Amino acid sequence: MSSRTAFVTGASRGIGRACALSLAAAGHKVVLAARDLQKLESAAEEIRAAGGTAIPVSLDLSSEESIKQAFAQAVQQAGPITILVNNAGITKDGLALRMKRDDWESVLQTNLTGSFLCIQQVMQGMMKERWGRIINVASVVGESGNPGQANYVASKAGLIGLTKSLAQELGSRNITVNAITPGFVDTDMTAVLSEEVRQKMLASIPLKRFGKPEDIAGAVRFLASEDAGYITGAILKVNGGMYM
Ligand code: NAD
Repeated sequence: MSSRTAFVTGASRGIGRACALSLAAAGHKVVLAARDLQKLESAAEEIRAAGGTAIPVSLDLSSEESIKQAFAQAVQQAGPITILVNNAGITKDGLALRMKRDDWESVLQTNLTGSFLCIQQVMQGMMKERWGRIINVASVVGESGNPGQANYVASKAGLIGLTKSLAQELGSRNITVNAITPGFVDTDMTAVLSEEVRQKMLASIPLKRFGKPEDIAGAVRFLASEDAGYITGAILKVNGGMYM
């Protein structure tokens, strides 16, 4: 098992935190990035307690300056980043008719532009290493569409297009670029949904349960591994069968 440096955005909680723990358990050094350093520190402690290496860095995806600083700090402390997990994401739901321009822009900025800028920060290093894994966490709704989420869906469908384009641009450098499209996963993001909505969703999931952050982390860990070396441009559905 070769040890590499992985950078996970939105690692303070939910899916990102599970990805960081899983990549650390696979033997990688993990840079945990998000806005709240205190929360990152608690995830980092868990990794260290299990014998892993964790480096928390502050990152705000809505600021290009913050993105540059976070990656500079990460490389300085952990060496070249060869695994990038673009996990951080936000929702600002509402029907398109009444959607505020700010709510459109901030979701696109964080979920899509932020991910693109992170990729730009690691591309050169990966080319130099002649090895890289870029994993974008999109969403089932980026494939299916969803009323009330035009901004979020556009950002996630954009991530899927970005994944396929960059897979073609970077393939000759031995850098793979893949996306994961989670279904309904129990995290803070989905905790706000009503019991009625949850039950309706559950009924449409063949595996008859919601996803756990670890379900997504397992797929991320696989795509980051040597075993996934011939997979690029793939959109891996991890959704319990809710959309095929
Ligand atoms: P979450 O809200 O629990 O966590 C989101 C993470 O992103 C947090 O660590 C937060 O600090 C970080 N983040 C948000 N804005 C940021 C910013 N501007 N700069 C830096 N970090 C920022 O969400 P989650 O459910 O763990 O979702 C993780 C990813 O999975 C998201 O991209 C989400 O869209 C996607 N996803 C989630 C579900 C689900 O059902 N939970 C389904 C499909 C896709």
